[in-house]
Amino acid sequence: MNIEWSDRIKNLPPYLFAEIDAKKDALLAKGVDVIDLGVGDPDIPTPIRIINALHQSSLNPDNHRYPSYAGMMSFRDEVATWYKKRFDVSLEGKKNVIALIGSKEGVAHAPLAFINPGDIALVPDPGYPVYSVATEFAGGTPYTMPLLESNGFMPDLDIIPEDVLKKTKIMFLNYPNNPTSAFATDEFFKKAIDFASRNNILICHDAAYTEVYFDEKPKSFLEYDGAIDVGIEFHSLSKTFSMTGWRLGHVAGNESAVAAIGKIKTNIDSGAFQAVQEAGIEALRNYRDELQDRINIYKKRSQLLSLGLQSIGIEVYEPKGTFYVWFKNPNGILSKDFANSLLEDAGIVMTPGTGFGEYGEGYTRASVTLNDKRLEEAVERIKKLTI
Ligand SMILES: *Cc1c(COP(=O)(O)O)cnc(C)c1O
Repeated sequence: MNIEWSDRIKNLPPYLFAEIDAKKDALLAKGVDVIDLGVGDPDIPTPIRIINALHQSSLNPDNHRYPSYAGMMSFRDEVATWYKKRFDVSLEGKKNVIALIGSKEGVAHAPLAFINPGDIALVPDPGYPVYSVATEFAGGTPYTMPLLESNGFMPDLDIIPEDVLKKTKIMFLNYPNNPTSAFATDEFFKKAIDFASRNNILICHDAAYTEVYFDEKPKSFLEYDGAIDVGIEFHSLSKTFSMTGWRLGHVAGNESAVAAIGKIKTNIDSGAFQAVQEAGIEALRNYRDELQDRINIYKKRSQLLSLGLQSIGIEVYEPKGTFYVWFKNPNGILSKDFANSLLEDAGIVMTPGTGFGEYGEGYTRASVTLNDKRLEEAVERIKKLTI
């Protein structure tokens, strides 16, 4: 039988990371010592107190059954407590928070809750690819908001045309930002809230990196006046606690918007493993423990890689947080060509800026999720490249 794929996936370009992975595997098979600074996946293990909590909770037979759709009340309340402690934002677990199977799950399902066919979602470019693909899956149209270095990698809301705004239902934002590592200013968030309120647009703020900062502490979008009227915020335990394999996150904010995502989820999944949620409670309750050590490691690595690249004449966007170093390609080479040259001539995997959208052209992203020695080795290899 000829299995026909839906247009929605037929028309999707091949997933960039899959393409890079295939080339990486070919090099590994040839015995090349590949340095992979591609995907942002922490190499530091999950703190042992969290692993112990999972172990204990996994022994409880109650946790072997279907979890509740929206997450355990104890987890949702702990998220609210964490918001109060960390951001001084008052939320109610029951009204304002639901658990997610990782924040990617929530981000990917959000358009199904707010977008009708023909509606528009504003998406940052360069940006996490899920925003636009999920919008298309819901029958909507993504509208690109360029993130330019000249504007601190924040979108210029004033240049979005009126006819686009009329059809716009949601706007995705993400600070601290992946891939650029930029932080949003107070001024920008305030302006975004005013803009959303005037134009009836729901802000979906992806806040996966608020805990990976070096000096200045990033704010939650929900700290700003009026934010809860116009928005929701996605959080992840993945990056903060090195829990990418565990799949736990949460969405918090506007009651009706959170309920809408909850309604989608009841029809699609059956919640996150309760033992993982209980481990998540432990993670959040003592969230400061071990965090500083991790931050220090990422900070040192980011500086090491930034200085290394600068020493060979590469222009680096100085990271204030996240574990990404975003830099301009040497000699104006195109992102795809540079990524290929890194891979084939230096055995280094980095992500071409264009993997995050057309406005990533001319840039490359490196994840500092490998140790100092490997980062130093990467700089040495790049130094020898002839471009
Ligand atoms: C890693 C990442 C996510 C997904 O995190 P999970 O909770 O592991 O699904 C979401 N958004 C951004 C910007 C990310 O970098």
